[in-house]
Amino acid sequence: MQIPFLSFSPANKQIKTEILTAFETFFDAEYYVLGNCIKKFEDEYAAFNNVKYCVGISNGLDALYIALKTLGIGTDDEVIVPSNTYIATVLAILYAGAKPVFVEPRVETCNIDPELIEAAITSKTRAIMPVHLYGQACEMSVIMAIAQKHNLYVIEDNAQAQGAAYENKLTGCWGHINATSFYPTKNLGALGDAGAITTDDEQLAQQATLLRNYGSSKKYYNEVIGYNKRLDECQAAFLSVKLKYLDTWTKQRQEIAGWYNEGLKNIQGISIPVVAKNASHVYHLYVIQTPQRDKLQAHLKENGVGTLIHFPIPPHLQEACTYMGYKIGDFPVAEKIANNCLSLPLWPGMTKEQVGEVCAIVQKFSSAIF
Ligand SMILES: *Cc1c(COP(=O)(O)O)cnc(C)c1O
Repeated sequence: MQIPFLSFSPANKQIKTEILTAFETFFDAEYYVLGNCIKKFEDEYAAFNNVKYCVGISNGLDALYIALKTLGIGTDDEVIVPSNTYIATVLAILYAGAKPVFVEPRVETCNIDPELIEAAITSKTRAIMPVHLYGQACEMSVIMAIAQKHNLYVIEDNAQAQGAAYENKLTGCWGHINATSFYPTKNLGALGDAGAITTDDEQLAQQATLLRNYGSSKKYYNEVIGYNKRLDECQAAFLSVKLKYLDTWTKQRQEIAGWYNEGLKNIQGISIPVVAKNASHVYHLYVIQTPQRDKLQAHLKENGVGTLIHFPIPPHLQEACTYMGYKIGDFPVAEKIANNCLSLPLWPGMTKEQVGEVCAIVQKFSSAIF
């Protein structure tokens, strides 16, 4: 049996007719940038995320960057990020001219350890950027309390966790201004690049709307130095279709994760994902940890199972970041996760039989190795 890491087929089959109709409506409207489709999707996503405002942005990285610029964060400022995040979070901070300050995650949840945040705060710190990694919500009430105490902004990176919650409050509505990505493989994915900002603050929403569109709210009148980082009109039309299915697809992801949890529990040398108390997990990725990661990945590949590593090198050890002067050992938890993590196949529509097959291959490997 060949089991790919990811397949769009079951989901695509469900939505194909509606997507083609949405394309036709978009096409016939003859309005291809900042038209009715983006307005409609922004309203729908704001309602879904339980926030007052959603601002459609070109992609997730741009949404993080616009969020920082909207808050006026730049040169000489410091922003706290988890040391095991995806590089986009770090790049957004660097583009803004600010300094990323890394804080280690908890090794079990892979999310930022709130107990380590205060020690990283200096007089230059302006914001904390929690990342809801793999689809699990960070411990947001603790993070918000720290931010309030130190007068800091919170910018959630919700690219991997649309629909997750902490203490029953959705990710993407805790921070002052938050970013998400609709990259095709994300839980809510467009058919190309797309992203958004979510916020309850009217002024921040207005400023982000201005910045994404040349700093202009009235055509050819430029109020501030802005950018072209608009969400594409036809991607917005597609996203409106897919958003209707998100809750169903999330439930499927959680069911699949449940099958994995059952099939992989008590296997020697394999750690299954741990969900923090009061957090929910929407399983953008199902990530196990094992000291024999590379061997297990090769073994799965030989047996026809696709896997990926999220992520093999933490930001502080990336070649692009050598100028920051970090070395191996500076963030041991992030480094351990990078060395041990393995993402197993998971997509809406994946069958119980397929999950069982993957678990059986992992079990066999474990019996032989550990
Ligand atoms: C995907 C992702 C991003 C970036 O999104 P793009 O749309 O690819 O720019 C940012 N942060 C995290 C955690 C992501 O997973």
